[in-house]
Amino acid sequence: MRLFRLSFVLAVLVSVVSCGSRDLFRDGKSEYSIVLAQDASESERYAAEELRYWIKEVSGVDLPVSDLDGGVRGKRLIVGFNQLVEDLVPGSVRPSDRDDSFSIKTKGGDILFWGGALRGTLYSVYSFLEEELGCRWYSSKVSVAPKRDSWSFRRFSRHEEPGIIIRDNCVLDVRTNPAFSGRMRNNFVNLPGEKPGETIPGTAEGYWGVHAMGYLMSPGEYYAEHPEYFSLRDGKRLSGYAQLCLSNPEVLRICVEKIRDVMRQNPDFLIYSMEQSDNQLFCQCDECTALADKYGGQSGLMVWFVNQVADAVKDEFPDKFIGTFAYQYTRHAPKDIVPRDNVVIRLCSIECCLLHDYDDCERNVEFLKDLRDWSAIAPHLYIWDYVTDFAQYCLPVANWKTMASHIKDFRDNHAIGILEEGDYQTVSCELREMRSWLLSKLMWNPDADVDALIKDFSDGYYGAAGKYIRDYLDLEDRILRRPGVHANCYIIANDPMYTDEFISEGRKIFAEAKKAVASDKDLLERVKVAEMPLSFLHMERNPVAAINDGTEDDLMAVVKSVGMDQLAEGAWAGGVMTVDQLRARNLAIHESIDNSSNEFYPASEVKTSGQGVAYVRYEGDFMSTSEMLKKGEITSKGTMPAVVVEEDPEKDHFGYVFDCWFMALQSGVHQFTVVSDDGAVLKIDGDKVLDIDGSHPVQSRLVFVNLEKGLHRLTLNYFEDCEGQMLAVSLASPDGYSGPLPAERLYIP
Ligand SMILES: [Zn+2]
Ligand SMILES: [Zn+2]
Repeated sequence: MRLFRLSFVLAVLVSVVSCGSRDLFRDGKSEYSIVLAQDASESERYAAEELRYWIKEVSGVDLPVSDLDGGVRGKRLIVGFNQLVEDLVPGSVRPSDRDDSFSIKTKGGDILFWGGALRGTLYSVYSFLEEELGCRWYSSKVSVAPKRDSWSFRRFSRHEEPGIIIRDNCVLDVRTNPAFSGRMRNNFVNLPGEKPGETIPGTAEGYWGVHAMGYLMSPGEYYAEHPEYFSLRDGKRLSGYAQLCLSNPEVLRICVEKIRDVMRQNPDFLIYSMEQSDNQLFCQCDECTALADKYGGQSGLMVWFVNQVADAVKDEFPDKFIGTFAYQYTRHAPKDIVPRDNVVIRLCSIECCLLHDYDDCERNVEFLKDLRDWSAIAPHLYIWDYVTDFAQYCLPVANWKTMASHIKDFRDNHAIGILEEGDYQTVSCELREMRSWLLSKLMWNPDADVDALIKDFSDGYYGAAGKYIRDYLDLEDRILRRPGVHANCYIIANDPMYTDEFISEGRKIFAEAKKAVASDKDLLERVKVAEMPLSFLHMERNPVAAINDGTEDDLMAVVKSVGMDQLAEGAWAGGVMTVDQLRARNLAIHESIDNSSNEFYPASEVKTSGQGVAYVRYEGDFMSTSEMLKKGEITSKGTMPAVVVEEDPEKDHFGYVFDCWFMALQSGVHQFTVVSDDGAVLKIDGDKVLDIDGSHPVQSRLVFVNLEKGLHRLTLNYFEDCEGQMLAVSLASPDGYSGPLPAERLYIP
């Protein structure tokens, strides 16, 4: 079974033959009717209404919509494939309902619009409105219909096919606005609670479920009676976070039964999830391990299991697919086994560097290999791609150029579909309307000219400020993509990728942008929203300065105006995930500033042994800095110029205690920020003021300490467990300094 036509060429053919031109409308008048066959689909009827609505917006003329069989007099806009199209266009064939490709053709004075009945015809109308009449749908709220007195045409013909068959632009504005989603030619939805084709007929189909193994067979339902259904790790069957023991025949039987029920009860979806849960705890029992070994790894075991599920439902559901992940521990392609024709493999790019092409970044080499390997064996490969920052949604992400090259790689490796995961929960990612618009355009045509699209959007959406938006993107390109910098989709504001120069130069550009649109309230509001990532970055890196210079107030006003409620997908960045938590944290900062006149840590009068920091280095397998102090082995002691960890980036299982006197140049609130992977604990004058201890991915935390001018004891305990390694300490002090903890203000005890 091959449901999807594997045709990946976008063909646009426009021929113009010189003969008399015809007016679709002129000076508020038209001789045209929009006509539909009686058997037109719901989506085609909707297409006729859209055509009527937008032509009226452009020309002021309200064209009648009539029945084709009713003997329409005058000229016609014929919407949908029907007998008349067959008669007028020799050799034309009725497209399959799911075919999203479309044709627009003139015949005599008529214009014919047709494609697949589910969406293709609707897309032909949108293409005409965009390409010929200049309409744009930049977001669910901002549409452009340029006013015209007349529009004339000569003979022309246009045909387009989608570069990517399944296009799921997973951002909130698209997900929650079906009309806009259809205009963006987005044809798929996949999140819990979303149903295909709701509200607007035929605009979207669906993928049922995500990580569905975890809820089709939950430990809550089965663990007490059958712990053997779940993954065996270190001799124990897991409950809670677990995967299924895929080699157990009962697990297969239950999964088949459950997914069959789901398919019967939810027949509208095209693909059904039989996907691993969102953790890495795969089963290590002998049978699972043997199967994984036999088929080239965990993905081989997964494909072996999912193939059997797909076989079991094939006869009853010949047009449906079973989807599974190639994600984290199943990302490498298997050996000596291939997915069945009715299996969809969803390959996930979560580990990739967003800033570089796949073939031009050491961090993407392995993914590109996996993409090619899967492409060679999977009849239906689908990509789950990540295009924004999930640790802090509204931070700048300089992937404007690479989004296109990544989509091209997916197309070239025969991906049938892409889910582009953006800010699906909230309205906050950087230049979100433009990012989402670009993604839709690129999924339709991966070869589209990105610079031309960016110019179209930035001038159309930001008006006179469009030029400055492009200057800002150039700045991102220059600073955030400087050599040696990489970024995945979990970046935090204190990442060294961002620099003070980037923030200050960016803010200068936005000051000009705001001036350029100062007289237009709507455009000014859009530019303020576009500036939000820079303001947020400044506030996160230096909250005291942001409070004092008014950035916080401006930012919170924009946050309110756009209705932003969530700042991150999870609580990675210092525990602040929602706007309410941000408000609470900022309130605490205000209080600490307001109290700064009363309670100081008093300065110490001590003799120091010159500039530098004393350190003790430990080695061992520990899960916290306190464990390190108890059971770590001391491997060296001494002094160093600053608080830095200079180790091989691959080195694991070590730690440091840094000890020094810190010089406060002025009395007042000092902000210390610690970014660490794994744990860190900061003490000032013997008080534990900051604690992100434990084994974890990179975390950032900041603290405000009211210090009297003079010397204060500063100790920092840090340890590295395994995987990522990071320690960065920065300071913002009342004397105006902001940056890394300065070596010249540290003294050896
Ligand atoms: Zn097992
Ligand atoms: Zn990179």
